[in-house]
Amino acid sequence: MNDCIFCKIRDGIIPSEKLYEDEEVFVIRDIEPKAKYHYLMIPKRHFKLLSEMTKEDEAMLSRALAKIPTLAPGLGLENGYRIIINQGDDAGQTVFHLHIHILGGEKLPV
Ligand code: AMP
Ligand code: ZN
Repeated sequence: MNDCIFCKIRDGIIPSEKLYEDEEVFVIRDIEPKAKYHYLMIPKRHFKLLSEMTKEDEAMLSRALAKIPTLAPGLGLENGYRIIINQGDDAGQTVFHLHIHILGGEKLPV
């Protein structure tokens, strides 16, 4: 867990502008954007995979998803957005701290 990039960003060890933060999640810009706007919503609690969630994590993730539409207008996503959670090698997951990709700001390829 000490080597986890997102834990280090959470703790301020790796600098990254937090566009939104509350007690459960924070939002940063993806360093390699795959769309005009590409954000990551990252739960503060470190866990790797959806399959590792506790009941508390499930409730937190549900609240996290519900926050996205309230944040969207302030992030330039008034016209819609795409949410992606990569799980495991076949999905190309590279950071093993669960995070939600939020992409938009332009028409996304289907
Ligand atoms: P995933 O492939 O789903 O695990 O996504 C990991 C994402 O984290 C990738 O889109 C990376 O570009 C992004 N990423 C890695 N390091 C950083 C960082 N220091 N700041 C912001 N985004 C990052
Ligand atoms: Zn972590």
